[in-house]
Amino acid sequence: MMPRNLSGPLAGRSRISGKTPFLILIVLTVILASGCRRTPEPVRETRFMMGTLVEILVYAQGEDAANAVSRAFSRMAEIEKATSCRIPGNDVESVREGEGALFSGDAARILQTAISAAVASSGSFDPTLGELVDLWGIGTDRPRVPGEVEIRDALGRSGYQKIPESGRFPPGEKLWLDLGGVAKGFAVDEAVKVLKDSGVGAGIVDAGGDLRTFGVKPGSSPWKVGVQDPDQSRELAGILEAGEISIATSGDYQRYFEVEGVRYHHILDPATGRPARSGLKSATVLAPDCALADALATAAFVLGPERGLDLLEKRDGVEGILISEDGIYHTTSGIGTRFPFRKKQP
Ligand code: AMP
Ligand code: MG
Repeated sequence: MMPRNLSGPLAGRSRISGKTPFLILIVLTVILASGCRRTPEPVRETRFMMGTLVEILVYAQGEDAANAVSRAFSRMAEIEKATSCRIPGNDVESVREGEGALFSGDAARILQTAISAAVASSGSFDPTLGELVDLWGIGTDRPRVPGEVEIRDALGRSGYQKIPESGRFPPGEKLWLDLGGVAKGFAVDEAVKVLKDSGVGAGIVDAGGDLRTFGVKPGSSPWKVGVQDPDQSRELAGILEAGEISIATSGDYQRYFEVEGVRYHHILDPATGRPARSGLKSATVLAPDCALADALATAAFVLGPERGLDLLEKRDGVEGILISEDGIYHTTSGIGTRFPFRKKQP
């Protein structure tokens, strides 16, 4: 689908729908440009990486801007290579194969954020669900509902408490990490760093809805970020206005398959080993950085409206909009006050 023309740059979110299996569809998280003054044309580039469409948009001109964007993409690709459980030859693979590894650099930083989200959410966020994610195969060409025994056995081999605090995984101990709940947000943060270091004053990095704005948009109007309606991929649930923000959304509509009318989506509840049924359709989180927003969005989705909201309210600089199956918007205290939010009119 194509998003509506909303007079401004646009960010995409990929999903794999059960109705059109394994087709990557572009759905929307939309950035709306606003203001009456004419703004200069931004430089914009989209690439497919980290399992989604990544768009970088900068308000800067010429070859330098294009080079900066290219360097930002390279940085994201480097992070994906070092931390994806789908790319061979990295430390995540070594740990899965029981070869041992000492996590450092990007992998160590991502793991740190993942562990802190796991602790804060009492394990609802768990970066050791790789085997279960693989069993379900959601987002691959072989999705299936695994048997009880398979789920129980894989669950028994998971658990964030098994991650050594030092980041030194001893040989002989296998652990199947999946950092997919936080890596995209981290990559967005790092891409923004590259752009800023390259002298770019303002822009957006959007990895399928895990998104960060920086700088002041020409025309001085605030950034406006659309929160997707989880029921209708072409609609917005509302629009947030903000200065620089980091925001991420986890939803049951992003990747899923359906069997006999039951939707099996990609966010698993570590308590059951099955797609989380917490009563939420989506969890959108704003945080000081996108890695944290990403991890907390996944965690809040698993926790559900009440416990999810509790988790977010407790953290400084964190806000959220949780949309439940009954269509209710559960928002933290800063939404609508610190962050103006225009909800879609029914
Ligand atoms: P997100 O789209 O950021 O909510 O992350 C979902 C991805 O993280 C999935 O595709 C899995 O790779 C992984 N994942 C699934 N369930 C969890 C969970 N409970 N905690 C952490 N990561 C998860
Ligand atoms: Mg996440």
